[in-house]
Amino acid sequence: ASAAMRLAQRSAEGIAVYPAGHEQEISGRLAMMGRLRQAIEQGQLEMVCQPKVDMRTRSAFGAEALVRWRDPQLGAIAPSVFIPLAEQGGMISAITEWMVHAAFRQVHDWQRDGNPASLSVNLSAHDIQNPAFIDRIHRLALALAIPDNSIQFELTESALMDDPDTAMQSLARLSDMGFEIWIDDFGTGYSSLSYLQRFPIHAIKIDQSFVRLMSVSSGSSAIVHATIDLGHHLGLYVVAEGVEDQAAWSCLAAQGCDVAQGYFVAKPMPVSQFNNWKTSWNKAQPGPGVH
Ligand code: C2E
Ligand code: MG
Ligand code: MG
Ligand code: MG
Repeated sequence: ASAAMRLAQRSAEGIAVYPAGHEQEISGRLAMMGRLRQAIEQGQLEMVCQPKVDMRTRSAFGAEALVRWRDPQLGAIAPSVFIPLAEQGGMISAITEWMVHAAFRQVHDWQRDGNPASLSVNLSAHDIQNPAFIDRIHRLALALAIPDNSIQFELTESALMDDPDTAMQSLARLSDMGFEIWIDDFGTGYSSLSYLQRFPIHAIKIDQSFVRLMSVSSGSSAIVHATIDLGHHLGLYVVAEGVEDQAAWSCLAAQGCDVAQGYFVAKPMPVSQFNNWKTSWNKAQPGPGVH
């Protein structure tokens, strides 16, 4: 796995891993795909979660579920590296189904233990283009009696735009099943805004690139302002991701942003730690109205 090893090393160092046509890189990618396939089959993926906080009440009400893969030889591989590989290799729906299952079981357990919280699960374009996949989610939800509004599905604009008619049918079905649809990385796609009216959407998540630059770039700040207004005028919740410091929090809160997610609140953590984290976070909050 030496080519895969070099690829993992480069990804860990944040070096671009797709210089087109480089043979070493191609064999590294193939080797990594093989190992990923094995990890999926052997149940070696992990689900971590990153808290989401209501900005008005400061209460932590749920988390985003994020996949993690640690290969025994390659170490931890970033999702930004292996998710595209999984998409190219036809493995993404296997990952999504594993994540959906884990998330469903988790919200079910939290509910049963009297400590309800919601989880957001990321879907890929491929997932919503396959009606059989939506059928499987439906069966899972029925089997586990998932409470309404306890699962959000996050989709990027580009995932919707691949095949808007099929996407529309899938989203309508998911919405009918009691799931919320959130638009991820909002503002980074190339789609028109008209889809916001046509699709059954509950929230938009402002991309973290805008949120991070908000305090230094007047352009990013204008985009954040405008997105919050747009969302609210359309009757949607607005979520900010990548909230890294007090300044970003205060600025978003002043503009009426509804939900915050980011390192300022918490980094992704093992799901087993979420309940304890939530209890101590909620205890430490000054209460509504204090920013
Ligand atoms: P995303 O869905 O937009 O998830 C947010 C990413 O931003 C996560 O990275 C999270 O750890 C990171 N993040 C959160 N707050 C901050 C912050 O304050 N500062 C910074 N610098 N980063 C922050 P992660 O877990 O590496 O995931 C990257 C992307 O990989 C996700 O972006 C999503 O597109 C994809 N991904 C992750 N898990 C899954 C999955 O289960 N299925 C699919 N289809 N995609 C996934
Ligand atoms: Mg997401
Ligand atoms: Mg995002
Ligand atoms: Mg993102």
